[in-house]
Amino acid sequence: MLAGVKPVTHVHARESDLPALTEVARRLRVKLLVFARTAGGEARLQVLLGASEKNLRKTAELWGREDVNPGRLLGYPACCMRAYEKHTDDTSGTDIVRAIARRTKGAGRLPFLLNDVFYFYSRALAVQDGARRQALLAANPGVDLDLLNAILWHPCSFRCPESRRKAERIWKTMKKVAPALAGSLRFALARPVLFWDWDRFAVLTRRGGPAFSYAGVEAPKSLLEAAPSALLARGDRLVRAGKSFAVRKGDKTLGVLPGEPLLLNFS
Ligand SMILES: [Zn+2]
Repeated sequence: MLAGVKPVTHVHARESDLPALTEVARRLRVKLLVFARTAGGEARLQVLLGASEKNLRKTAELWGREDVNPGRLLGYPACCMRAYEKHTDDTSGTDIVRAIARRTKGAGRLPFLLNDVFYFYSRALAVQDGARRQALLAANPGVDLDLLNAILWHPCSFRCPESRRKAERIWKTMKKVAPALAGSLRFALARPVLFWDWDRFAVLTRRGGPAFSYAGVEAPKSLLEAAPSALLARGDRLVRAGKSFAVRKGDKTLGVLPGEPLLLNFS
């Protein structure tokens, strides 16, 4: 919102968060609208923040409707919204990161500002996914996974020019107003990731030398099975092997990773 990218921001909150959110709105000189409130226990609220009262009302009206999406008011690029809508219609169970990677053309490193591997917020589409999400959060105590993304939408491609342009604006503002957050984001996002599924991935520490060398596996942790995790921890280099990668240590091949992992080289 401060970067001028999002006309409206949506927040899930508790009743007890409301004084703090009201203070945020006052300091930013924007308006606040509570448009939904659950009954029983401590109420869960849906809150909108933004400069224009009209935009807040319009977003609240469109929220949760199947035929129209409030994405434009939330600052999402049109191309990325179209891609996301197409993805939510896809019943194959393919994770959105795989769909984005498929649409990403060109070789070379990917801009870390568009890394949405840890953007779990919109991944829990089926009931059982809620439990997977909780398991991921439990595996990463002290890491706020909901804050590990620079853009607040899924890009249509990891090279989407419109997402990149908006991401650069967000980044410039974040470095100025929240330098500590910008630092931790860069640390988490500017890394290569081996990706199987939204809760099964390995974040690697890049190392100089022959492609593709790595120095270890980093946080955040995923729910990747013990065997491939141990194999990765023992190796220091990945070499293409069919649709997967062989893990090597020096000249020795230690084994081949299962499945068809993607190597997303964010930097
Ligand atoms: Zn796009």
